[in-house]
Amino acid sequence: MILIKSLPITWTAEALSKGYIADYKPYNFVDGEGVRCSLYVSGCPFACRGCYNKAAQDFSYGQPYTKELEDQIIEDLKADYCQGLTLLGGEPFLNTQVTLSLCKRVREVFGSSKDIWSWSGYTYQELMKSSQDKIDLLELIDVLVDGRFVEAKKDLNLAFRGSSNQKIIDVQKTLAADELVLWKDGNYD
Ligand code: SF4
Repeated sequence: MILIKSLPITWTAEALSKGYIADYKPYNFVDGEGVRCSLYVSGCPFACRGCYNKAAQDFSYGQPYTKELEDQIIEDLKADYCQGLTLLGGEPFLNTQVTLSLCKRVREVFGSSKDIWSWSGYTYQELMKSSQDKIDLLELIDVLVDGRFVEAKKDLNLAFRGSSNQKIIDVQKTLAADELVLWKDGNYD
């Protein structure tokens, strides 16, 4: 397949995303720190062996993202006990029509009082070399769990990650320092 042979930094949401989501889960405790609202977008061409959400690799899986759902997410985030929003997939950075719209609105409504986490099959370095929409999304995020799931490096004891190659990155500190800064300075296991 042409797509699989092309470099991931050349893949774009514009070409791939259908604006679908696989699931939305308000108030869960597993997709990052604290109580969170989690949006699972549809479509991920990384196709990692052992992917935790194989059905959501299909860009047509699930249902269209709607303004009504976005309004609901904003309402759900207003709960005092809710720490923030989490983006998962699928690939959030190849669904920026959905994720960028939502994250911009979260910042407009809540400023930095709610945090934003995202998982991605891209590494931080790949995202910074990729299309502007991916960089725009990155700039709105607090914590990025980056990189493909590598079955040979699978470790069930890792916090928030499936395999040991993946990193939990403090995005805002990384952007400010222009060098990779791990969340909690790497003290997260
Ligand atoms: S990057 Fe994540 S969602 Fe995409 S195929 Fe790999 S494990 Fe699945």
